Amino acid sequence: MQTESGKWKVESRLTKASVCRSPPSAFRFDLKHTDAGSAARRSTLHTPHGSVEMPAFMPVCTLGTVKGVDIGRLGETGAQMVLSNTYHLALRPGEETVAALGGLHKFMGWSDPILTDSGGFQVFSLAQRTKIDEQGVTFRSHIDGTLLELSPERSVSIQAALASDIAMVLDHVIGLPNSPEAVAEATWRSVRWAERCLKAQMASSREDQILLAIVQGGLDPDLRRQCAKALVALDFPGYAIGGLSVGEEPADMYRTLEATVPELPVDRPRYLMGVGRPEDLLESIARGIDMFDCVMPTRNGRNALVYTDQGPLRLRNAAHEVNNRPLEENCPCPACRHSRGYLRHLFQAKEMLGPILASIHNLTYYQRLMLGAREAIVADRFDEFRQEKLCGWGVGRMQSRSGTQGK
Ligand SMILES: [Zn+2]
Repeated sequence: MQTESGKWKVESRLTKASVCRSPPSAFRFDLKHTDAGSAARRSTLHTPHGSVEMPAFMPVCTLGTVKGVDIGRLGETGAQMVLSNTYHLALRPGEETVAALGGLHKFMGWSDPILTDSGGFQVFSLAQRTKIDEQGVTFRSHIDGTLLELSPERSVSIQAALASDIAMVLDHVIGLPNSPEAVAEATWRSVRWAERCLKAQMASSREDQILLAIVQGGLDPDLRRQCAKALVALDFPGYAIGGLSVGEEPADMYRTLEATVPELPVDRPRYLMGVGRPEDLLESIARGIDMFDCVMPTRNGRNALVYTDQGPLRLRNAAHEVNNRPLEENCPCPACRHSRGYLRHLFQAKEMLGPILASIHNLTYYQRLMLGAREAIVADRFDEFRQEKLCGWGVGRMQSRSGTQGK
């Protein structure tokens, strides 16, 4: 089979290319504790811009800002590391402009760790007239139609200019469902591109940035396992799981994690990209994931949907019109100094403060959820914590298979 032969060609090259390396000394991953009743992990990732306590949630600063939330307020939500988008920043203002303004930390005014994605997901989801071959992707900008190219080497070079702490490899993202042949082709191309990204990054000898690999493979557990094995042979300092939360059933996502996570080294961070709902975070932590990013808290906040321990509330509902209670009684965020009735009024009157306050509350909610998860893991009561939260949200628990502790 063509796909099979292509795969083995990749694997033999990877074995030769694999060398034993350590990440730069400013980076260190400390695994402190694994929950007694699940694969949930309490860890710390040290970077040149400070430490990140994990499990951690990264707010998404697409264009160098969380929409509507200034950087000071963002820090007050408890966020320790943020994600910025390479595709968006390369298009506008351009990575050279960001570099001329002192790099992404200075540009944004954020002195804590930053992760940049590779641009792959956005090229495949936003760009127009995308053409892909082994060299890379050509596409037209969604802003002005300019013809642009993104290769593994170019993605590494843009992220180097942005000077994030953590860079991601360029991967070939495809929509699901798709044919097994198309999924396999994109997966093995992603592995070849990961190797090219690693070579480009090693050539730059950077001490202040690490590069994480991305496991692809659709919903095929065997392909996921093979992809993870091939990437682990390349000895990356951390591994992401990509291509999920793209419309599949949650149970399929959890099954895919159960197939993939045990293939990943226990002493490296594991990052589930683009996920997700509060229940997805807890279910994924239970399966051994350490890091997340998602636009949901801010996108939903802007649309008047706020998270509480009793489940999400739609602030535009008339039921909140004369409600004097805050969104959450014990939430320290500035939105919770106000009544639900006042917050509803802001949305009804289209005042910009409504989306701002709802975004801040949701980001604070996600950070407090991660804090609760970290405390529960250390106390060996993560499963109880998860059960309490899921009951409050009115969400059923997804059965976790035992034996997902990783190796
Ligand atoms: Zn609040």
